[in-house]
Amino acid sequence: MKPEHELYPLLSVEEALEKVLTMFHPLEAERVPVLETLGRVLAEDIVAKGDIPPHANTAMDGYAVQAADLVGAGPESLKRLRVIANLAAGYVAAERVTPGTAIRIMTGAPMPDGADAVIPFEETRQDGEWVECFAAVRVGENVRPAGEDVRAGERTLRCGTRIRPQEIGMLAALGYSEVAVIRRPRVAILATGDELVDIEAPLLPGKIRNANSYSNAAQVLHYGGIPLLLGIARDTVADLTAKIRAGLSQGADLLITSGGVSVGDFDVVKTVLAAEGEISFWRVRMKPGKPLAFGYITADVDGRPRTVPLLGMPGNPVSAMVSFELFARPAILTMLGVRDVHTPTTEAVLDQAIPRKDGRRHYVRVRLERRADGLHAVLTGDQGSGILNSMVQSDGLAIIPEAWDHVPAGARVQVLLFECGRLPG
Ligand code: AMP
Ligand code: MG
Repeated sequence: MKPEHELYPLLSVEEALEKVLTMFHPLEAERVPVLETLGRVLAEDIVAKGDIPPHANTAMDGYAVQAADLVGAGPESLKRLRVIANLAAGYVAAERVTPGTAIRIMTGAPMPDGADAVIPFEETRQDGEWVECFAAVRVGENVRPAGEDVRAGERTLRCGTRIRPQEIGMLAALGYSEVAVIRRPRVAILATGDELVDIEAPLLPGKIRNANSYSNAAQVLHYGGIPLLLGIARDTVADLTAKIRAGLSQGADLLITSGGVSVGDFDVVKTVLAAEGEISFWRVRMKPGKPLAFGYITADVDGRPRTVPLLGMPGNPVSAMVSFELFARPAILTMLGVRDVHTPTTEAVLDQAIPRKDGRRHYVRVRLERRADGLHAVLTGDQGSGILNSMVQSDGLAIIPEAWDHVPAGARVQVLLFECGRLPG
């Protein structure tokens, strides 16, 4: 049999991502309370059932008048009107504005019958039951007509829209307390390694704490998925297989493992992936994160066969997070129904030269600094794939293309921004 590295060609990031994305599609819709739709994708058109605002109302605190009464009014020619009522927002006037009269009115209150304009307080002086007006107003001035924001019957939000706070405000204004959105993907997360212990377990000799399950689960949450923490699998085929099956039985839409996918003696993820399903690819021309495996697992769940994609990330904590950003994030967003799954980038000037070159695309952790001549990307110290601190200090990943074999200080680079990151002010 051929050695493993000949069985699986080393793919570029784009080739690998393309293979990953063929396995994912938007999930089904569900109805949820409006506030739970934040970050999710609408699965129905939202049609306005009525006008917003529902009634013509005043945009200013002032007096509702008939504009014809104030023709020619000015600082030198005051017009006097009799004030017949005082109207707060939320109430409908019982009185009608007739020639020579006005209703004192507060912002948002419905326009009284008979009135066609509002003169703001600033242009008036009230004197008992009379108001003196120093300015003319046009018909419709300071009046917000019914439907000025949204008209009844209008398709206000389209199916496929990603919900932000402003869409939630619109849904509330339109009277939608529940909305159909694509459901959140369930992402099972399994750490592998005999050396790993969970957060609260004693750190016995030779052991380290499981960081990846938590950083990956936080990434799942951040991008809108539901993490299912499957714990830690020992480096044996039997334990890994059992824990992966447990994840499938919990209804996972995607399995993510970390560790055990390299060329070490106890790296069993590929063995299990090949035995329980199929390997699509192994190894990507990138740094960190080269030993990345992708494929699917098939198993009977509740008597029915289920095929679930598995992303096997390398174990080093930076590699696991960077691989997640590049491959798990677009997979999760695709399942959520998001159409453009590209990570936002910004251009910045590299502050220091980077020694190269191994033909891989490098993702260099950088802090962004805003200076007089624009954004600068400053390396966050040691770039080892085990240095989690280099992630903690960073705002994003500077992309060093594989074709560059010399990266001088001052080079312009694209920086993938962590969506949960900080941008310099
Ligand atoms: P592996 O990919 O299994 O060879 O692991 C590579 C390195 O990452 C080793 O030093 C592991 O101890 C470490 N590692 C693997 N999994 C985790 C984890 N869940 N949390 C922290 N470090 C890990
Ligand atoms: Mg390991």
